[in-house]
Amino acid sequence: MSTPALASGPEGRGALRPLLDTVLDALEDGARARGGPLPAGGPDAVTARVHDAVGDVLPQDGEPDALRTLVRALAEGAADPAHPLCAAHLHCPPLAVATAADLAVSVLNPSLDSWDQAPAASALEALVTRALAREAGASDAVVTTGGTEANQIALLLARELHGSDVRLVCGANAHHSLPRAAWLLGLPDPVIVPAPTGTLDPAALDKALTAHPGPHLVAATAGTTDAGLIDPLPEIAALCRAHRVRLHIDAAYGGGLLFSDRHREKLAGLERAHSIALDLHKLGWQPVAAGLLAVRHPRDLAALDQHTDYLNADDDLAAGLPDLLGRSLRTTRRPDILKIAVTLKTLGRSGLGALVDQVCGRAREFAALVQDHPGFDLYARPTISTVLFRPAHAGDDTVAAVRRSLLHHGHAVLGRARPDGRLWLKATLLNADTRPTDLAALLALVEKATHPTTEPTEPGAEAEALVEGTTPR
Ligand SMILES: *Cc1c(COP(=O)(O)O)cnc(C)c1O
Repeated sequence: MSTPALASGPEGRGALRPLLDTVLDALEDGARARGGPLPAGGPDAVTARVHDAVGDVLPQDGEPDALRTLVRALAEGAADPAHPLCAAHLHCPPLAVATAADLAVSVLNPSLDSWDQAPAASALEALVTRALAREAGASDAVVTTGGTEANQIALLLARELHGSDVRLVCGANAHHSLPRAAWLLGLPDPVIVPAPTGTLDPAALDKALTAHPGPHLVAATAGTTDAGLIDPLPEIAALCRAHRVRLHIDAAYGGGLLFSDRHREKLAGLERAHSIALDLHKLGWQPVAAGLLAVRHPRDLAALDQHTDYLNADDDLAAGLPDLLGRSLRTTRRPDILKIAVTLKTLGRSGLGALVDQVCGRAREFAALVQDHPGFDLYARPTISTVLFRPAHAGDDTVAAVRRSLLHHGHAVLGRARPDGRLWLKATLLNADTRPTDLAALLALVEKATHPTTEPTEPGAEAEALVEGTTPR
């Protein structure tokens, strides 16, 4: 019996080429069957279709057509971030060139825990992480699975530098992964500074730093997940300096503005942080995962040092083999840097900056459409590419039901946020190909879902009907 073909080696190219055709055809078939940004019918319908397509998960004898079957099923049931009406989350449509680079990584399968598994990949990672760190005004960076892991490592570095009583001080607008990292690392309960305007108020931060015993780690946000707001970074940096405390800036969303001449200045103050979380699977158009933690002082990363004879023996290091183990908390690790490097070099600063400018421009246009429409309220003019809006005079239950109705019918994918206690619909625009007509169509869909043609009997009933799927299409 012949063994299954390998992706690399002498037969790799011949084996992969027809499989890639299969994958591309199955992706297209699945997308056509879906016909919109999200599969229709909600979780039960999707689960049933997946069960049908998969059948026996581990059959006694293999099924050669499994690749086509499963890829098609995944595509049919996908939330497609490349669809202009898929705009809920910081869930970007990946660039073709980055995805192609990621295929090369899967073929070569380097692992970044030792030089002898990744000679060129480790050299590339060192080069590109330092270049990206310098873009952010830092000096070195490690690659992470995203903003969550970057925030965790930021807190870990603070703990190793300042002791296990270091206390996280962040705004109520900070990402949930920050307090969670404090919990994970066994740090004292964080001080959460109220942020009623959506950004961290320096005066309230000053009070918190004075009132609570240190040492402290202040975490500010450059691009909140809910509203895309940027904390007043220069004022916060000045306060941290005055109080002599460490500053981390979570720029998982806003970090991409660095590529844009027009928007970069919104990140003024970023370079004053001790550590910075960046996420190129958001405003960077990378397939997941593509996170980074940048640091001002490379020596801070020494906290991650680790020694084990099979990966970084002293005599190997003395003989000149690079030490990679201290560049991550993970051991086996995929070179996510290749797709990033290919993207940076293919598009250049101007190409990436143009993508950033386009999505920010789309957000401004969408906000203007909302503002000019008597049936909708706009929360605020967008800072980055997030627009919060809601049907005028609607209760929170209606807003929630409208969102679920659009999901249920597979018509549009919108997020939700409660910036002021009230529930708002959230459009996070990350697709540079979205056209003004798509934005108008999105608003029309929301309007239709809010005011179904059937006469509502009472305000809540209309929303219920939507969830039940009784709305006319
Ligand atoms: C998305 C996000 C994170 C988490 O990043 P992941 O890549 O999802 O782990 C952290 N902080 C902010 C501000 C974010 O928007």
